[in-house]
Amino acid sequence: MAKQALRLLKRLRNDFQLSIITLMGLFGVLGISPYAIYRLSQGNYLVGSADTIIVSSTVLAVLYAWRTGDTVKPGIGLAMVFSLCATLIAINLGVNGLFWIYPLILFNFFMVSPGKALLITTLVLTVLVSYSLAVPGTVFESHYQMVSFLVTGLMASALTFIFAYRTSSQRDQLQALAIRDPLTGARNRRAMNAELKIAVASHRRHGISHGVLVMDLDHFKRINDSYGHQAGDKVLVDFVELIMCSTRVEDRLFRFGGEEFLLLLPNTDRPGLIAAAAHLQRQVAQGLQGPGGAVTMSVGGAILRPGEHWESWLQRADSRLYQAKSAGRNCTIIDPEPQTPEAASL
Ligand code: GH3
Ligand code: MG
Ligand code: MG
Repeated sequence: MAKQALRLLKRLRNDFQLSIITLMGLFGVLGISPYAIYRLSQGNYLVGSADTIIVSSTVLAVLYAWRTGDTVKPGIGLAMVFSLCATLIAINLGVNGLFWIYPLILFNFFMVSPGKALLITTLVLTVLVSYSLAVPGTVFESHYQMVSFLVTGLMASALTFIFAYRTSSQRDQLQALAIRDPLTGARNRRAMNAELKIAVASHRRHGISHGVLVMDLDHFKRINDSYGHQAGDKVLVDFVELIMCSTRVEDRLFRFGGEEFLLLLPNTDRPGLIAAAAHLQRQVAQGLQGPGGAVTMSVGGAILRPGEHWESWLQRADSRLYQAKSAGRNCTIIDPEPQTPEAASL
């Protein structure tokens, strides 16, 4: 029981959107339910129903987000339902309802991307002003009040947009930095572990075949020793550029050691993996130039087996790389299928 509570708390801490949706669920039930009951008991069925829809949609969104882990769809749904209901309430209650528009603006920017939130919020302000102009005396008590509301509403939206946009672009930059190797731009080991786990899950769920190639530059230390560390760095950068140009968009390249790289190939069977490795081996031997001449690589590969742990998959590819090194370098060894004992040497 305590373990489960800890797990839930961890999910809340790690998933900001989920925690906001959950918080909104609490606000919805505790904060808006009394209004819904009060309005319905007073016979104001329009506002009472809008409040009831808000409460029930927040509860549904919270349940959906917790069950599926998807916070995007419930976020968009909630922003739309809240905006529609807040507009109806403001039209019905006039100035008393307009106070809700300010927290609504913040709410929308928490729930959806900055662009979408700005669009929804502008739509709400436009509908309120248009309705008030079409049926004077309904939403605002005077033109002065309407203009003040419009200006403050637009200001609040613009400032929140700038803040949300800045935050989301900083978050994207941080995320990119956290998963990239600064020298070569390839994904790092942390990203590799995460993506290998995802590959195992997608194989288990959808039966998609995945392959990995572990690539290690041959005699790389000699380049460093003879021409300096900077020359070695340049070879690493050129290598990554070459591999990126020679692989499919869905393939993922990771640098997981000094001059060791892993290529994850989704939707790839054993013949496909052998062909990809042969192609890359050729590209490197012909296209990668170090200060002392052509640089080659050795490759070990493996196809993920059903029910296999990602570490054991990586381990199989790594031991084939080790064999490729012992076999004289500049060659590939792909781990055989479980029933065929001998390795396929290229
Ligand atoms: P092998 O063919 O058996 O793979 O031999 P090797 O010389 O390539 O391998 P070894 O493991 O002996 O040496 C790897 C070298 O890579 C040693 C280390 O100094 C160098 N190295 C690791 N990271 C970097 C880096 O970021 N930049 C540079 N320039 N060198 C690096
Ligand atoms: Mg090496
Ligand atoms: Mg090495």
